[in-house]
Amino acid sequence: MTAPLDVLVVGAGPTGLALAAQLRTYRADFRIVDRSLDRVHESRALGVQPRTLEALAGFGVTDELVARGNPAMRLRMHLPGRVVRMPLFDIGLADTAYPFLLFLSQAETESVLAEHLAGQDVALERGTELVHLERTGSSVSCRLRRGDGTEETVEARYVVGCDGAHSTVRAQAGIGFEGHAYPQTFLLADLDVDGLEAGAVHTYMTGSGMLFFFPLGSPAPWRVLAMRPPGAPQAEVTLGLLQEIADAYTGDRLVLRDPVWMTDFRLHNRGAAHHRSGPFFLAGDAAHIHSPAGAQGMNTGIQDALNLGWKLALVCDGRAPEELLETYEAERAPVGRSVLRFTDRAFTLATSGNPVIRFARTRLAPRLAPLALRASGPRGLVFRTVSELGIHYRRSPATTGGSRPPRRGPRAGDRLPDLPRGLQARTAGPGWHLLLSGPPALWSDEPLASVVRGRDDLVGVHRLGGKSPWPSVAHGLVRPDGYFGYVSRGAHLEGLREYLDHWLPAQQG
Ligand SMILES: Cc1cc2nc3c(=O)[nH]c(=O)nc-3n(C[C@H](O)[C@H](O)[C@H](O)COP(=O)(O)OP(=O)(O)OC[C@H]3O[C@@H](n4cnc5c(N)ncnc54)[C@H](O)[C@@H]3O)c2cc1C
Repeated sequence: MTAPLDVLVVGAGPTGLALAAQLRTYRADFRIVDRSLDRVHESRALGVQPRTLEALAGFGVTDELVARGNPAMRLRMHLPGRVVRMPLFDIGLADTAYPFLLFLSQAETESVLAEHLAGQDVALERGTELVHLERTGSSVSCRLRRGDGTEETVEARYVVGCDGAHSTVRAQAGIGFEGHAYPQTFLLADLDVDGLEAGAVHTYMTGSGMLFFFPLGSPAPWRVLAMRPPGAPQAEVTLGLLQEIADAYTGDRLVLRDPVWMTDFRLHNRGAAHHRSGPFFLAGDAAHIHSPAGAQGMNTGIQDALNLGWKLALVCDGRAPEELLETYEAERAPVGRSVLRFTDRAFTLATSGNPVIRFARTRLAPRLAPLALRASGPRGLVFRTVSELGIHYRRSPATTGGSRPPRRGPRAGDRLPDLPRGLQARTAGPGWHLLLSGPPALWSDEPLASVVRGRDDLVGVHRLGGKSPWPSVAHGLVRPDGYFGYVSRGAHLEGLREYLDHWLPAQQG
């Protein structure tokens, strides 16, 4: 009998593609299947967050994403009688090389990731649908069906459902997907617009809702998003209907033309009861769906994938304990819940017909926006949340502060900042990275070699001297996903050794 495949990835949307890229980096034994014959060509998600750009930089694709996209950084809030000008991101982002929200269509993001995988000789098995899963002893029997009706059964140790909102993996694993649908219908189109200032996001607010224009570039210069007016018939989306809505908000100032994609949809707010059940994992839309407020959907999915891929690869390779896989749920489920909460609040604020919220939207917002512009503290906090740079895993069992956490600088569970600039690039290679702060002579070779021995193929050592994120002598171990697993003040390495012995045991011989 042949040994089971280590990982079957179901779905080649942005989540599945990112997962495949990381599994490939660690030379995992995996396959990736998708029932569609071709990738998505519609724009869909159009904002790539700073944290996603950082996380994808390790695959060498971020420069290409930035080159294809539009790093617009301005927001124009069109209020009755005035326009409030705000930067989209301007503070709280000193520690990233990507201090902007990149506007890029999901089709382009997927195309860049798929090209990367092709360059790494990863076969995307398109036209191949997962139809049935069954646990068989220590593995899972996965029935795949191709477009011509032929079937294949694959045994796999783990199955990751990156198969979107209607996830087959989630259903077959019996994982609930609770939440609600919003009553409103939304209209969306990619098109050209005359009369809009380029390079900015435009929002129009009224008592009945909001209208948005986002700079896109490809496949069209603009994305328009609007709520179908309450009471309007559920008619097909046409350019005429969109123009009528735009006129109502903007007073005939804009001309909409040349649409390349028009659709309508309803939004949901739902989360999977678990991100993992035995050998089944859920990532991306399979685990959480919500409104596009704040451009979190695709980004959260990609970051789910990059939290999970290296864990699966190291566990399957026998380099890390099974227990490491439990930390996926512990780390990513709270992130998913917080995105559901945040997007729900933002959605309610933007659309509610409740008189108090309407008043806040149309009367208070115009007065508060300029004040908010001056209050750097809250503004910085909002930017760090939306940019996803603020995500941390401080409460995870796989992150440990040691007995002497540094008084200042990043702590265990925090993301590795790109400050001093270049730190992330220096540690972008696969594996774990041990960062040593303080005079380089303090860190003699033998104690370091003794801690790293038996896992030196997976742990890089960096003497940072004064170019470190800590102002004093300290050491920190960065995990493959760019978060600190271990951080301690001083130069005693015993706590680090214990951490490594637990999560990355030394290989014998
Ligand atoms: C109209 C629209 C507009 C959107 N706008 C935004 C936005 O502005 N901002 C934002 O952040 N997000 C937006 N989203 C959401 C965003 O597109 C998703 O969050 C993102 O696509 C999630 O990626 P994913 O890889 O998890 O899932 P998906 O992109 O849904 O990919 C799932 C893949 O799994 C495959 N699959 C499904 N079932 C099976 C099976 N049984 N076997 C094999 N393959 C299977 C599918 O073919 C698909 O390729 C929008 C979505 C839509 C529909």
